[in-house]
Amino acid sequence: MINGKIWLSTPTMHGEEQKYIQEAFDTNWVAPLGKNVNEFENEMANYLGIKSAAAMTAGTHALHMAVKLAGVKTGDIVLCSDLTFAATVNPVVYEKGVPVFIDSEKESWNMNPEALELALKKYEGKVKAVIVANLYGSPAKLDEIKALCNKYSVVLIEDAAESLSATYKGRQTGTFGKYNAISFNGNKIITTSGGGMFLSDDEEAVARVRFFITQARDPAPHYQHSEIGYNYRMSNVVAGIGRGQLLHIEEHKRLKTEIYERYKAGFKDLPVKMNPYLSDSVPNFWLSCITINKEAMAKVTPEMIRVHLEKDNIESRPIWKPMHLQPVYKDNDYITAGENVGEDIFERGLCLPSDIKMTEDEQSFVIKKIKELF
Ligand SMILES: *Cc1c(COP(=O)(O)O)cnc(C)c1O
Repeated sequence: MINGKIWLSTPTMHGEEQKYIQEAFDTNWVAPLGKNVNEFENEMANYLGIKSAAAMTAGTHALHMAVKLAGVKTGDIVLCSDLTFAATVNPVVYEKGVPVFIDSEKESWNMNPEALELALKKYEGKVKAVIVANLYGSPAKLDEIKALCNKYSVVLIEDAAESLSATYKGRQTGTFGKYNAISFNGNKIITTSGGGMFLSDDEEAVARVRFFITQARDPAPHYQHSEIGYNYRMSNVVAGIGRGQLLHIEEHKRLKTEIYERYKAGFKDLPVKMNPYLSDSVPNFWLSCITINKEAMAKVTPEMIRVHLEKDNIESRPIWKPMHLQPVYKDNDYITAGENVGEDIFERGLCLPSDIKMTEDEQSFVIKKIKELF
C-alpha cells in the first residue's frame, strides 16, 4: 500500500533502471539519442520478434507516425476500435483523416471482424487503414482482422499499448500490424514514466519514422527541410528506465495473471464475469475487469462499487467510454454487427485494482468490499 491506498496500476521499479540511467550520466549522453535508446529499441524488437523499432516520447506519437506512414490524408476513412482510449483514435484526426468506429465482439471485447467487414464494404475505396487495440491486455481476433485488411487492401495498425507481452497463437501482440505501437506510460505493464515505440518489419518505414521524429532534417550539413517534422524522440535517460524494466516484463505479466486469477476465484459466487479472452491467446492481464450480470444490475451497479471502494481508499475505474459516445466524435459513423456490445460493457463493467505491488491481503480486502454489496 502506498499512502494507504490500493491503486489501479502504478509503476514498479526494480533498481536496474538506475544502472542504465547512471551510465547515461557517466557518459554524458543526456540527449534524445545514445546507447540506451539504441539498445532499448534492439532489445524490445528482439523480445517481440519484429525487425525494427523506433523509441519516442509517447505511444500516442507512435500511433501518429503509424497513421502518417499509412498515408492517411484529408478525408480518408480509418476504421478504429470503438471501445478504447481516445489515444487510439486521435492520431487519425492529427492527419485530418476521419475515424469510423467499429463495435466490439463479446469474446475479447475487441474489434468485431463481422462489423469490420460491414464497414469495409460500406466505405470500399475510401478506407486507408484499420486501427485495432487489444483492450486491457487481451488480444483481438487478429488473424480474422488481418485477413480482412489484406482482402480489402488496407493497412493494419495494431495498438498494443495495453497488451505488451500478451500473445496470440504464440506470437507477441504489437507484431501483427504493418505498423504497430506500444506505450510506456506510467500505468502500463512496464513504464519509462512516459514513452512509446513504433514497430515494424519494414525497416525502411522505421527509418522514415526516425526521420520524422527528429524534425525531418534532410541529409545536408545545413538545416534543410523538405517535409514537416516532429520532435518526438525518446531521451537516452528515459530509455535507460525502459531497459531496466524490460528485464522484468515476464515477471510483471505473471503477477498480473495471478491477480486476475485471484479475482476470478474470489467472485465465483457473485453475479459477475471477468474480462474475457480468446482461448488461443495469452493476455498480459494488464487490468482485471468485471461486468455485472444484467439481472443483478438492479441491485448493484459499477458506479456503486467504485464509490464503495473509494471510501476505503481503493482505486477502481470505469471501462473506457466508447468513442462513438464521445462528444468530440458525435458526428462520426459507428458500425455494429447487431447489438451494441461496447456500450453494454461500458454500462456493466469496472476496472479493478491491478497493481502488482498489491499484496494478497489487500486484494482479499478489495474482494470482501465488493462482496458486501451483493
Ligand atoms: C496508453 C494508451 C495509448 C497511449 O499511449 P501513451 O504512451 O500514453 O501516449 C494508446 N492506446 C491505448 C489503448 C492506451 O491504453
